[in-house]
Amino acid sequence: MSIASHAIGDFGIIRTNPSMNICFETFGCRLSRSETLDDEAKCIAKGHQIVRNHAEADMIVVRACSVTARAQRDCEKMVAHLREKYPGKRLFLTGCIEGAKKFEVSNVSRNPDGTAKISVPRRTARAYLKVQDGCSCGCTFCIVPKFRGNPISIPFTEVLDKAKRFVEAGYHEIVVTGCNLMLYSSEGRGIADLAAAIAAISPECRVRLGSIEPGAQALDVVHALAENENICRFLHLSIQSGSDMILKAMRRPYSVKAVDAVASEATRLMPLICLGCDMIAGFPGESEMDFRLSKGLLVRHRFANVHAFPFSERPGTLAAAIVQNRILPELRRRRARDLADIGAENLRQFAKRFIGKKVDVVIEDEESLSGWTGEYLKMELSRGARPFASAMGKGAKALRKKIVRFKVVTSHMGTLYGEPV
Ligand code: SF4
Ligand code: SF4
Repeated sequence: MSIASHAIGDFGIIRTNPSMNICFETFGCRLSRSETLDDEAKCIAKGHQIVRNHAEADMIVVRACSVTARAQRDCEKMVAHLREKYPGKRLFLTGCIEGAKKFEVSNVSRNPDGTAKISVPRRTARAYLKVQDGCSCGCTFCIVPKFRGNPISIPFTEVLDKAKRFVEAGYHEIVVTGCNLMLYSSEGRGIADLAAAIAAISPECRVRLGSIEPGAQALDVVHALAENENICRFLHLSIQSGSDMILKAMRRPYSVKAVDAVASEATRLMPLICLGCDMIAGFPGESEMDFRLSKGLLVRHRFANVHAFPFSERPGTLAAAIVQNRILPELRRRRARDLADIGAENLRQFAKRFIGKKVDVVIEDEESLSGWTGEYLKMELSRGARPFASAMGKGAKALRKKIVRFKVVTSHMGTLYGEPV
């Protein structure tokens, strides 16, 4: 049964009952997460309560993702579960999936200039700032443009205004999200200009960029990182394959040479930058040699944050229609695991390079005083330092969202351990 046939209610706007309990379930990427956080803030501004528990909710909003068959299955399972357990509740399906509707809150209060009067989301340790949506690139494997439509960019000044409000709300890290950040364009300015402008708002607040496509513009992004110390030393490239032949079959608009150029320039300018990437294993026609090229690319540039997925046929895409030279699902999975293993080893080696150094950590969990460094390494208190957390008592709570400097004592499996200095 398709998810659309679950008939999740056919309203796109919350019109009534200003005191509904609403529960959001979010699948997918940071963009999806940022949209949920924005919707939560709008609902709160309208007088609704956000609850985490399905049983307490009057309405459950599922923001779905169907980037892979597995992601879609997980969403379908959740919807089926909710339908069965809470037949009387209002369910709303939104996001990237067949049958989804746009979730909108009606009659949001407006400023004199017509813009929506909304307090910024405050619940997460890091702020998520959506700057762009949609994509027109037409990669053969990708279903996303079907749900997200043509590219749109949020105007430069509007983005900066929201970023300022995040800073005023006490955030010390802003995560910039979009469907394809390289398509950001407003008043003649691209994503590199935007990142630099957000970073200029406050030296106390760092900026983390979502994933970007390799290519000439990516070099501008690398230079923006190098020139602005408060843009995180973390570059996630959406690479997908280390073989030019496969990139061509995927209709990706860059070559392996372009990936090499971006990765080399980044590490030349910032030797301790963390490189991440998305990879697809087992695209139709991917030979052992193509796969070896992908592995070689990960080893060559020591990609330490590797998201590797087995190729997944998404109905309606060009790649799903390719019947020749399909790779067996088991082999796709094995290759994805091999790529992930290279990434895990690179991460272990990368983390070791921080031992003895001082790092700035945005605290995510106030109980354990753990959080993330700018390089997107997990930082936890080392054993000897644990009494520090209890000694902090209530003070520890105030550290959530804040930047705390740690000295790294050791690392294990890519996680850093140390103590505040
Ligand atoms: S389909 Fe893509 S854009 Fe949509 S939620 Fe999933 S990962 Fe994000
Ligand atoms: S650039 Fe990204 S979002 Fe756009 S079609 Fe390609 S994979 Fe999909």
